Amino acid sequence: MPTMEPTHPPEQFNLSIKTPAGPVTTTVEISTGFVPVTQIVPLMRKLGEQAESLEQQRAVASGQKISCAKGCAACCRMLVPVSAPEAFALRDMVAALSENRRQVIRRALADTTARLEQAGLLSQLRHVAETDRAITDDAMEPINRAYYALKLPCPYLENEACSIYEDRPAACRELLVTSPADWCQDMVNKPIRALPVPLRVSTILGMLWSDLTGSPPRLIPLPLALDWADRHAAENRASWKARDLLDKALDTIWRFLSQQPAR
Ligand code: SF4
Repeated sequence: MPTMEPTHPPEQFNLSIKTPAGPVTTTVEISTGFVPVTQIVPLMRKLGEQAESLEQQRAVASGQKISCAKGCAACCRMLVPVSAPEAFALRDMVAALSENRRQVIRRALADTTARLEQAGLLSQLRHVAETDRAITDDAMEPINRAYYALKLPCPYLENEACSIYEDRPAACRELLVTSPADWCQDMVNKPIRALPVPLRVSTILGMLWSDLTGSPPRLIPLPLALDWADRHAAENRASWKARDLLDKALDTIWRFLSQQPAR
């Protein structure tokens, strides 16, 4: 179970979490006031990245080679799942951009939406974003395949580079492959070898949001995330005591880890 020890009470805590890739530790500063759920997103991504880094070190130590490298954006043609807290964080981030940048993003999203509609996928993705029932991985499989078959670049991809790199969703930080890089151009015929993901942060944040709001665990397709966050903006006005939100987030990590099969 994750542990939390105050260092200079009540604001700072040392966190320690045992993940399947090894222990991750960090110090976190907690405000004494109330905060929206988006406040927990950077910490969760940081923990996920640390765990992913340990996984990478284990792979390299066992003689595997990570094929992912700067400049390769093959996986930016896959359907990226985003939790509700991340969708709200993305909305806040885009709102803080210049008018010019916002227009570029809105145009790219409009183009993507039009392509998805043409391909007959838009209504399915909207259903995924809005349904009151949890969607199983099996149910998502044909949707993921159909999306990937379009070879549609992510709306946030510009000149084969992520235009929101620092704020990219957790799922974008988690895919690392050891299969040859060119296999990622044709994943249907050449199934890739991906490293295990010790802390699947989008899933954990989805579970957390579900607990906080009583809604089903939900993952929103990235191309619809801004639109979803706009339409659900009222839900993001809720706030929680920062310490309580951290406790719930750590509890959700523990629940997630306890559901993972032993390696
Ligand atoms: S958000 Fe960035 S990293 Fe993620 S799929 Fe889009 S372009 Fe790629």
